[in-house]
Amino acid sequence: MKPTSKYEAIRQILADLKQPAYRYLQIMEAIFRQRIGEFERITMLPKTLRGELIRAIGQQVTSVTPVLEKSSKQVSKVLFAIAGGERVEAVRLTYQRGWKSYCISTQCGCGFGCRFCATGTIGLKRNLTADEITDQLLHFHLNGHALDSVSFMGMGEPLANPHIFDALTILTDPRLFGLGQRRITVSTIGILPGIDKLTRDFPQVNLTFSLHSPFEDQRSELMPINDRFPLHEVLKALDRHIRHTRRKVYIAYVLIRGVNDSTEHAEAVAALLRGRGIDLYHVNLIPYNATEVTSPSYRQSERNRVKTFVRILKSKGINVTVRAQFGSEIHAACGQLYGAE
Ligand code: SAH
Ligand code: SF4
Repeated sequence: MKPTSKYEAIRQILADLKQPAYRYLQIMEAIFRQRIGEFERITMLPKTLRGELIRAIGQQVTSVTPVLEKSSKQVSKVLFAIAGGERVEAVRLTYQRGWKSYCISTQCGCGFGCRFCATGTIGLKRNLTADEITDQLLHFHLNGHALDSVSFMGMGEPLANPHIFDALTILTDPRLFGLGQRRITVSTIGILPGIDKLTRDFPQVNLTFSLHSPFEDQRSELMPINDRFPLHEVLKALDRHIRHTRRKVYIAYVLIRGVNDSTEHAEAVAALLRGRGIDLYHVNLIPYNATEVTSPSYRQSERNRVKTFVRILKSKGINVTVRAQFGSEIHAACGQLYGAE
């Protein structure tokens, strides 16, 4: 069977070469503790073994190659080249107290075509492998950055890529990244089988559902996936997730001027969530980021509209926050990633 990641490939190589058991830990210590990014430089290994690793995996430990980095005060966006001549992007956010959070891609492009999203305009090129997903983080780690939390909110729909489950295993493996499940967030447009699998296999990983309209017909217009997985069905799966995990579920709602920011929308969102007898839903309102490749009719809501929206949700007892907007000036914000220079 083909190994699902380079970590498994390394185990296989060590077994084939009848290497002692401690070799695996030695290599992982070199990469994750000493932050060594080239196999040639892991000098405690015998030269022949280094040669084998290079032959099987390559000179570099990571499979993604940074080709461009753009930074503003709190945000840094890296464009990576991946095999096949494609590009994906990752974003590093630095919060006030130095907390470092990352937003990584799970697919090159995206096939779901949500009308307001830049990534959606490219279509799906391909799923990233578990290595390509986790190597975006490994890149930052090898360059000395702390990894405090990570969200799968870059390019692509995580739950449409079966490799994200291998990626989650790698990120939470104490010998590798050692991230707690609670430091990881998966954002989805509501791929039902994927939600159920996440509930079962990674119950403590944070889950965000991209709602964006409380009305089935409008949601189908904005997000064609709604015809296959209607929001009412998704909410039932989220209820199950909450009952099983006792964890909060986040509802992402991008506010677009004149499209989904009316009083009726706010009241309907509150009604959708309130009637469920579960108070673990938390609404995250996201200011729309204009992009160069989506319709110019999509614009950010006026400030007063946002305030009214918040007030209505609060008055109905719904937990709500407005997500701080980062990185829009370097096209590094949610929904702005499309792999261009
Ligand atoms: N495919 C997943 C995860 C990636 S997108 C999902 O859609 O949930 C991460 C978030 O950015 C989603 O909530 C998405 O709806 C939102 N988004 C997309 N385009 C946006 C834009 N132009 N402005 C603000 N948010 C956007
Ligand atoms: Fe894909 Fe998410 Fe963008 Fe929709 S919003 S097109 S699912 S990346």
